[in-house]
Amino acid sequence: MKLYSTNNPNHIVDLEEAVFKGLPSDNGLYMPTEIPTLPKTFFENIEKYSNQEIAFEVCKALFNGYISDENIKIIIEKSVTFESPAVLVENNIYSLELYHGPTLAFKDFGARFMAQLMAFFLNKRESNINILVATSGDTGGAVANGFHKTKGINITILYPSGKVSSVQEKQLTTLGENITALEIDGTFDDCQKLVKTAFLDAELTEKLNLSSANSINIARLIPQSFYYYFTYAQLKKLGKPLVFSVPSGNFGNICAGMIAHKMGLPIHHFVASVNANDTFVKFLQSGNYNPKPSVETLSNAMDVGNPSNFVRINELFHKNLGEIKNHVTGYTFNDTETRDSIREIYDRTGYMMDPHGAVGYLGLMKYLKSEKDDLIGVFLHTAHPAKFIDTYDSDLKPKVEIPKALEHLDNLEKVSIKMKNDFNELKKYLLN
Ligand SMILES: *Cc1c(COP(=O)(O)O)cnc(C)c1O
Repeated sequence: MKLYSTNNPNHIVDLEEAVFKGLPSDNGLYMPTEIPTLPKTFFENIEKYSNQEIAFEVCKALFNGYISDENIKIIIEKSVTFESPAVLVENNIYSLELYHGPTLAFKDFGARFMAQLMAFFLNKRESNINILVATSGDTGGAVANGFHKTKGINITILYPSGKVSSVQEKQLTTLGENITALEIDGTFDDCQKLVKTAFLDAELTEKLNLSSANSINIARLIPQSFYYYFTYAQLKKLGKPLVFSVPSGNFGNICAGMIAHKMGLPIHHFVASVNANDTFVKFLQSGNYNPKPSVETLSNAMDVGNPSNFVRINELFHKNLGEIKNHVTGYTFNDTETRDSIREIYDRTGYMMDPHGAVGYLGLMKYLKSEKDDLIGVFLHTAHPAKFIDTYDSDLKPKVEIPKALEHLDNLEKVSIKMKNDFNELKKYLLN
């Protein structure tokens, strides 16, 4: 498997380099030079495969001999460890629950797979690395959990003090061992800037073997394509075309679905469902991509004004707006619509959604209304409602089921290192 930089097709690296560098030095994004197609017989028999077997076939085709079958199996056995059921909510509408992992958000898929892939490469090299990651909430917990106790990898998470939910903070600060949480007196943007500055610091990168766990890492993208296949395997028997609506922020999740589609997975259409951060929707309307500062919404993991995977989507469709529009439709929804839909669907069906899933649901319904064909709609339900319980009205709060994965957090003590928003302080800490 080879990857190129979207800024320079001649800049080609192998998977190991792409995974540890995260980003090419020319500031592009890594993309596979070839996206293979899976054989027809695979799709004809897919319902007979287990999820791990499906993930294996996808990796085997993509890696193309770069990692042995035996090692791919080990990586998958350790990372694809929880279910992602497509649950019927109402007639022809399914919720793809991606929140049954340890931190109750779909980012567990990417973080766990990346941890195992890195551990595999490091085992070969017998060296240690230090990963720095800035988080606004969900990523930090998933990365901490995915990499916890992984040999040879130390994780330092920077999070903005007082600006993550109490559940998220517990998930970041209670694991210990190879995980350290730095509580920064600043915003998420400050944390991200500190991390970026660290990567540009020659002394730090040289002495610490720094690496990133950023969402644009190809090792996080690949496993996010798996559950599109799992869903197809589950719903194929219905015999109708599938539409996937993806609540999107950085557009990594939907981009992974588009890669699955390129590999032959029958997907009728994608819906990019966004909150008030509507840069991509505006692009579909006008053909102009104008990033803007993010605005805060209820579905805060999607508060992204400049979706980093836009370039990858543009590459997949040969930078052709018409081609993009043939595959994906975009809709934007405000917080009132999101809140109302959570209540409406609960009152009508008894099914509880989180604010991100609700945006996905709204986009799906809007698209299906505009279509005459008989279709099956699936919205990606990216986080468990309990993770965002603070945002629910007081009468709805008690209806949210609290999963076991959260109960034990109550008894754990937060451990963080408080730090000013000051690069020199961070550097001094890291070097010690
Ligand atoms: C990260 C996240 C998203 C957005 O996913 P992208 O890949 O950035 O588009 C949606 N929902 C939840 C709960 C998330 O944590």
